[in-house]
Amino acid sequence: MKKTLYNCIIIGGGPAGARAALELSKFTNNILLIDYREILGDKLCTGIIGKECAEKYGLAEYLIHNEGNSADIINPSDNKFHLKSDNPKAFIIDRAKYVQEIIQKAIKNNIQVFYQSRVTNITVNKKYAEVSYTRSGIKKTICTKSIILASGLESKLISKLNIKPINKENILNGSQIILKNTEKITNTKVFLGSRFGSQGFGWIVPTFKDELLIGVLTKSRSKNILHQFLNTITDEYNLKNMDKKLIKSWGIPIKPLIKTYSDRVLIVGDAAGIVKPVTGGGIYYSQISADIAVETLKIALNKNDFSEKFLSSYENKWMDAIGTEIENGNKLRNILFGFEDNLLDNLTNFALSNKFITNILTSNKSSFDNHFKSVLNFINNQKIMALFSKSKYSKIKEIIPNMKKDIF
Ligand SMILES: Cc1cc2nc3c(=O)[nH]c(=O)nc-3n(C[C@H](O)[C@H](O)[C@H](O)COP(=O)(O)OP(=O)(O)OC[C@H]3O[C@@H](n4cnc5c(N)ncnc54)[C@H](O)[C@@H]3O)c2cc1C
Repeated sequence: MKKTLYNCIIIGGGPAGARAALELSKFTNNILLIDYREILGDKLCTGIIGKECAEKYGLAEYLIHNEGNSADIINPSDNKFHLKSDNPKAFIIDRAKYVQEIIQKAIKNNIQVFYQSRVTNITVNKKYAEVSYTRSGIKKTICTKSIILASGLESKLISKLNIKPINKENILNGSQIILKNTEKITNTKVFLGSRFGSQGFGWIVPTFKDELLIGVLTKSRSKNILHQFLNTITDEYNLKNMDKKLIKSWGIPIKPLIKTYSDRVLIVGDAAGIVKPVTGGGIYYSQISADIAVETLKIALNKNDFSEKFLSSYENKWMDAIGTEIENGNKLRNILFGFEDNLLDNLTNFALSNKFITNILTSNKSSFDNHFKSVLNFINNQKIMALFSKSKYSKIKEIIPNMKKDIF
């Protein structure tokens, strides 16, 4: 029997792989998506997406767990600042169902899905690429013209392509637990300060399902920090009888790979390190990169050219679209998460009690999807600059000039 030659094999069915599958399925056939999971999209995540992502890719009402139009920011000294915008800036979604909905649409367009199948090797030759996978202990090898590698952070497959993996220093550690919302908390809460380790923060996110997603993202050991954080908030949020064994942990890369393509292969989403660095959000950017990968493959399939040289245009395109935001987002992360507790306290007390400043922070000019652009708008606002320059704290006075110096 003649072996199938797929047009594309997508490895990984998270947001990146799902988006790639759907967009590819709109113009070509013979596409296969492989994932080792049984339930696609069911990876540790808080499921917050910005308004821009919802508008660009659509968001069915039934997927929304909660709307993000208000948040409490809690500083290191436990002072709380309530921010509220007129319209939702973000949505907390059922991420697994969100991903599955995209994949179901792709299946309707005839893509094939292999569930519970782990890809163990990729080899590339002049005529095609070979993908080896195991399912229920049985190993098989299949052939394809091209591969979209959307296998997320854990990808051991990157090294098979002779591409240097993302440095550990550029990987954040996240831990999260889901608990009952007995206190009927309605606002998302973001906690700042050194108690969350190096460059860390914590969160409590309520959902419509009467649950609280409580988590920590840090460059330090997130699980230990979440344990300690839970101990400090148990009474206030009535978190009794929690089973800390239910804490899940996962990593988030915040700097892209040195190279996101090779012969017959395009790397997208977390596997490529294409993530918003400030918050570690990757649902949106992973789909943008998948979209651009598909755009590139569309031409490659027409020309039958899957050479590294031709596919390199993918990297130029995603860099044009979100490269600046990622590069400067990393600089911004280093600045914002480098503030000592004392400065964070002073800064939040000063800025988040000022109506003019909070109005700007909650206005349409501040986007949840483009942190760098939003901060740029903020620090270039004449009135904001004047307010900061009049602060009685020298360190606050220096913040905007220092930021401009460090970023540009
Ligand atoms: C604690 C935490 C909270 C987060 N909260 C948010 C948030 O609120 N908003 C946001 O935007 N982002 C958030 N993120 C980040 C977000 O989850 C990721 O950026 C996003 O999932 C990236 O999508 P992806 O498709 O690239 O990778 P993934 O979602 O990781 O998908 C990769 C898929 O590939 C499969 N796979 C891997 N290796 C193989 C293999 N060898 N063979 C077959 N299949 C394979 C996996 O099973 C998986 O399904 C969070 C992350 C963490 C850790």
